[in-house]
Amino acid sequence: MAIPQAKMELRSLGNTGLKVSAVGFGASPLGSVFGPVGEDDAIATVREAFRIGINFFDTSPYYGGTLSEKMLGKGLKALQVPRSDYIVATKCGRYEEGFDFSAERVRKSIDESLERLQLDYVDILHCHDIEFVSLDQIVSETIPALQKLKQEGKIRFIGITGLPLDVFTYVLDRVPPGTIDVILSYCHYGVNDSTLLDLLPYLKSKGVGVISASPLSMGLLTEQGPPEWHPASPELKSACKAAVAHCKSKGKKITKLALQYSLANKDISSVLVGMSSVSQVQENVAAVTELEGLGIDQETLSEVEAILKPVKNLTWPSGINQN
Ligand code: NAD
Repeated sequence: MAIPQAKMELRSLGNTGLKVSAVGFGASPLGSVFGPVGEDDAIATVREAFRIGINFFDTSPYYGGTLSEKMLGKGLKALQVPRSDYIVATKCGRYEEGFDFSAERVRKSIDESLERLQLDYVDILHCHDIEFVSLDQIVSETIPALQKLKQEGKIRFIGITGLPLDVFTYVLDRVPPGTIDVILSYCHYGVNDSTLLDLLPYLKSKGVGVISASPLSMGLLTEQGPPEWHPASPELKSACKAAVAHCKSKGKKITKLALQYSLANKDISSVLVGMSSVSQVQENVAAVTELEGLGIDQETLSEVEAILKPVKNLTWPSGINQN
């Protein structure tokens, strides 16, 4: 595999003025949520990501019970570059001990995150997995609290994340235009589930930047397979396993194909992939470069899509009943 030398494509993130790398660094694996990752490996992975063109890093206090933020903070510090050279997103409201989107908790949360990340500000603060609480609380209490943090300079932009796509429209329809800068959707723009596609025109009309996470469906589309806690049904897991096996039998990497599928839609500003080793970073960045040069392997993609057809757009329940 050729190690990419050219800088990666940067894409505009909604109206924020930020230019994020097409592949973003998902730091949840640095919290050892997909298996143990040592501190030296975590730092080396972050350094390699930045070296070969990734400028966008995503974490949360929830990942590994704050471990991911601490590891990412160490990795970013080791870069020894100006703060403005990289973009950091973290989240609030979801913690190992549960959910708390109160104004008081999110104010405290950002201070704790900044300390763990060893930063003075984050570029984006997301409300993490809002479907687990009353969306009206997000609209009337959490977002106004984040606006104050914006005025205080602790955060530059406000985002919301969640699995069900209708949480985005619910909140965006109830806040003044320009209040929410970005949304982060996960497991909805990949080979097995591309339902985010239908929402893209609406998000564009609202001027909201779109980040899509988990192109590998949180491990379903990897040779290693999903972690124990993966919420997919046995049917979805076994179809993805068959797709992985098919690619392997052809000597192809399903991770490359799946990532390229997500990257091909330029209305998505950044595709966040979870990475825990230097070699994964190199492989994933090479996938972007190759997509630009050679395009996607259409034949294998069609075969994989045929295998996944019976489970296409199958997801899993997440959150509370909002009615
Ligand atoms: P993912 O689909 O990116 O898969 C990650 C898994 O794939 C990890 O086990 C990783 O080690 C492995 N992997 C990555 N590149 C590989 C390669 N080239 N070869 C083999 N294996 C490879 O899932 P994810 O990590 O859950 O999602 C990406 C990021 O998006 C997260 O780290 C997180 O930052 C963010 N995210 C946010 C939310 C949310 O806000 N609710 C939800 C999911 C993900």
